[in-house]
Amino acid sequence: MAKYTGPKCRICRREGEKLYLKGEKCYTDKCAIEKRPYPPGEAGQSRRRQSEFGLQLREKQKVRRTYGLMEDQFRRVYKEAARRKGNTGELLLQLLERRLDNIVYRMGFANSRAEARQVIRHNQVQVNGGRVNVPSYQVNAGDEIVVAEGARQQGRIQGAGQRAEDLGRPEWLQVDAGNFKGTVKSIPERSELSSAVNEHLIVELYSK
Ligand code: SF4
Repeated sequence: MAKYTGPKCRICRREGEKLYLKGEKCYTDKCAIEKRPYPPGEAGQSRRRQSEFGLQLREKQKVRRTYGLMEDQFRRVYKEAARRKGNTGELLLQLLERRLDNIVYRMGFANSRAEARQVIRHNQVQVNGGRVNVPSYQVNAGDEIVVAEGARQQGRIQGAGQRAEDLGRPEWLQVDAGNFKGTVKSIPERSELSSAVNEHLIVELYSK
């Protein structure tokens, strides 16, 4: 499947939720979904009843797009979750949350996961003292993440820290913002993750 290169805000409007794809703009009143909270296109404002398949598909697309994955990447993560022992839906969310780009974003070292991917690909992130430039790298409990010194003065990274400070960081992460480092205290339980996600719909979709 080709990579979507259109406006990111259109994705949020399609999914009917803020997915925080644009960084700083998402936290201002310029956010497109605040101004036009209905799907894009001519039929956007008309009401349509969704089929069960439609609901499952939309939920999968919402989660996949939130984390910025292509369909084949997302399916690989799902397969890994299904292979492991335990609740597949919860394992899927944990594998997504453990991605290094997500952790860098959640710690407040980037304004969005896309920005976190850039920072990581530019070799500006260390995990346990070693540079890691793979956004999909799976972080473990106890791992220490540090932003390289050369990147700390970037305005976007400083701004992201302030935003995270204002909004509050997840309990399962410990962050020393002044020193641009953080530790993953534990892998998050389902109760510590977004209640707006219905992961069982994704499991149903892929189990067909
Ligand atoms: Fe989504 Fe951010 Fe655009 Fe708002 S500004 S619609 S949250 S990408």
